[in-house]
Amino acid sequence: MSDASVRLRFWGVRGSTPTPQVENLTFGGNTSCVEIRTAANDCIIFDAGSGIRNLGQSLMKEAAGQPVNVKLFLTHFHWDHIQGLPFFIPIYGPKNHISFYTGIQGRPLQETLEGQMAKPYFPVDFDQVAARRDFNTIDPGKHVDASGMKIIPFPLNHPQNASGYRIEAPGAVIVYATDYEHGHPTLDSTLREYAQGADLLICDSQYTPAEYEKHKGWGHSTWLNAVHVARDAKVKQLFLFHHDPTHDDQQMMRITEDARMQFENTTAAWEGFAAVL
Ligand SMILES: [Zn+2]
Ligand SMILES: [Zn+2]
Repeated sequence: MSDASVRLRFWGVRGSTPTPQVENLTFGGNTSCVEIRTAANDCIIFDAGSGIRNLGQSLMKEAAGQPVNVKLFLTHFHWDHIQGLPFFIPIYGPKNHISFYTGIQGRPLQETLEGQMAKPYFPVDFDQVAARRDFNTIDPGKHVDASGMKIIPFPLNHPQNASGYRIEAPGAVIVYATDYEHGHPTLDSTLREYAQGADLLICDSQYTPAEYEKHKGWGHSTWLNAVHVARDAKVKQLFLFHHDPTHDDQQMMRITEDARMQFENTTAAWEGFAAVL
């Protein structure tokens, strides 16, 4: 591993709702959570789906009593992207520091996150958790410089909006574009622009093209559209992401094969997959 290497790990790849059934466990049942580590081992997290629970336990074990400091970027606030937050153990440690970020404008970020832990939904209020927290909304056209990386949000076509993120690290560009439906000409071009030349594109591919016909307007894309984006934006590696809850491992393997016929460097993201870039 070179000093400049960036590491990525998927802790949750499932769309919409966790699916802890045995027939899904090769690809995984936890909802969206992606960890990126910089060369200096700083931890940047994208989304707080149910996968963030395991990540939190891993971070606490690794820290071995030392403070845990992470930056958590949220794409949007649908359940499957925030439901793991109350179970992310580092938020309860007084020595820890969690910085929250969103590219979604409007309701304040802190207030939005407090909502899911308010009475009677959870026994601990979000304003009672012990970790130091700060809340940052990224203005349109702005980006965040974090741990030597440039993290740039961009708008995705999704009900109630979602942000994709282009992550420019020394030596690698990763683009995270989940919860996105194709067919909006302006935002389709925006995605291609921000995904341009990425080493790795993580893209919403919830449906097969046939399934999509019955789910237009639901805010999600197909593996075939993800392939088109990867090709148009000349990305090196495509990760299919936000797998439909009804897609078991066998179907995910078929989808991967179909996608690879069109774009060879395609992998369906699976929970636990780790890459060094
Ligand atoms: Zn989602
Ligand atoms: Zn969503």
